[in-house]
Amino acid sequence: MLDKVVIANRGEIALRILRACKELGIKTVAVHSQADASLLHVRLADESVCIGPAPSSESYLNIPAIISAAEVTDAAGIHPGYGFLAENADFAEQVEKSGFIFIGPRADTIRLMGDKVSAIQAMKRAGVPTVPGSDGPLDDDHERSMEIARGIGYPVIIKAAAGGGGRGMRVVHTEAALANSIQLTQSEAGAAFGSDVVYLEKFLQRPRHVEVQVLADGQGHAIHLGDRDCSLQRRHQKVLEEAPAPDIPEDVREGVYKACVDACIAIDYRGAGTFEFLYEDGGFYFIEMNTRVQVEHPVTEMISGMDIVKEQLRIASGMPLSVSQEDIKLSGHSFECRINAEDARTFMPSPGKVTHFHAPGGNGIRVDSHLYGGYSVPPHYDSLIAKLITYGEDRETALNRMRQALDELVIEGIRTNADLHRDLVRDSEFRKGGVSIHYLEKKLET
Ligand code: ADP
Repeated sequence: MLDKVVIANRGEIALRILRACKELGIKTVAVHSQADASLLHVRLADESVCIGPAPSSESYLNIPAIISAAEVTDAAGIHPGYGFLAENADFAEQVEKSGFIFIGPRADTIRLMGDKVSAIQAMKRAGVPTVPGSDGPLDDDHERSMEIARGIGYPVIIKAAAGGGGRGMRVVHTEAALANSIQLTQSEAGAAFGSDVVYLEKFLQRPRHVEVQVLADGQGHAIHLGDRDCSLQRRHQKVLEEAPAPDIPEDVREGVYKACVDACIAIDYRGAGTFEFLYEDGGFYFIEMNTRVQVEHPVTEMISGMDIVKEQLRIASGMPLSVSQEDIKLSGHSFECRINAEDARTFMPSPGKVTHFHAPGGNGIRVDSHLYGGYSVPPHYDSLIAKLITYGEDRETALNRMRQALDELVIEGIRTNADLHRDLVRDSEFRKGGVSIHYLEKKLET
């Protein structure tokens, strides 16, 4: 087992990683910006190193500073968490070249999956169902692009190969608009992502976002831990997630699980990963793979009994998976509400001092949060401050527990989106299950 790990992240996920390390007897090094010295995990870590000023470009994205922190503390590995450098192949490469273990997939796997065109091609080869599309980059041959789009049928969506965070996409409804839209997306992608490679796929009108969690040890073993439904999104940001995704035929589910596990073996995947799909009319369509632990991983832990972060640490230590597929028994239902420091109506960030914090508790309730009374939420970073997670033997029980948990939650001093969640868990359509990715935005409009 790794004996000391640098946690190259902040907030709730840094605390989550610290707890997993402690359980495994791994020593921890917190790295933090000047604005983050009072983070809970910094206080709890065995050692801490300040890696730079508040802006993340100078601290949490500062590769030499993070690697130096590993050197001075004589750590063995670096856990990137999610966001920041988690899917940066150059970082993974430099970590390994400097003699440390990157707790995640190999750099070439991150690179393969970071380019959506190569990711889709690799998935297609491995037998994962993809969205009908151009199966490669579009070039300046507009006749050819028009032919592809005609073959698929409108509407289509033009997407940047290097895109992320819901940016670099454009929906096209008519052939007359196609050529211009391709050019616009190309130039925007070039400016935003440093690559103007774009591709085209069918635009699905009312899909759900359903994703599959996998674990692979890079030693020939891969398993899945079921799926999650993350359709409740605002501006492509997930707001509330659940596991398993409701109302999916068992044979369709099993089919996509098998395809994901086979794909892990085909690309020799190592670590935790997520295959993201759009799900519409009984069909799964791959859109991208995330090569890291995800914000919403706890809902999967609740229904599988697995600890995904501990598994990541074991795999990085060179150990084989601790379980086989037959050992995994998925049962019950779980929800996660992302509590953000933001105004419930305008969604503007609301940093500042938390004067009072009371976390809910009781049977089937889990709170992943770095908050404490007196903590000041800095203005420089993502606004996620807490994840409320509930479990129940069925969907309704888990949802009712979430309703209670939200009613018990008290965060004073800053504004949060807790009222939005209180509203959502009482929403009759959502309670029925299976709403599309447009549901939340439509609801917010009214
Ligand atoms: P990103 O890496 O920016 O998150 P994704 O490829 O995961 O990009 O797509 C983000 C979101 O855009 C999806 O969750 C979905 O809402 C929408 N989207 C992407 N591709 C399609 C498509 N083919 N049809 C309909 N919606 C899509």
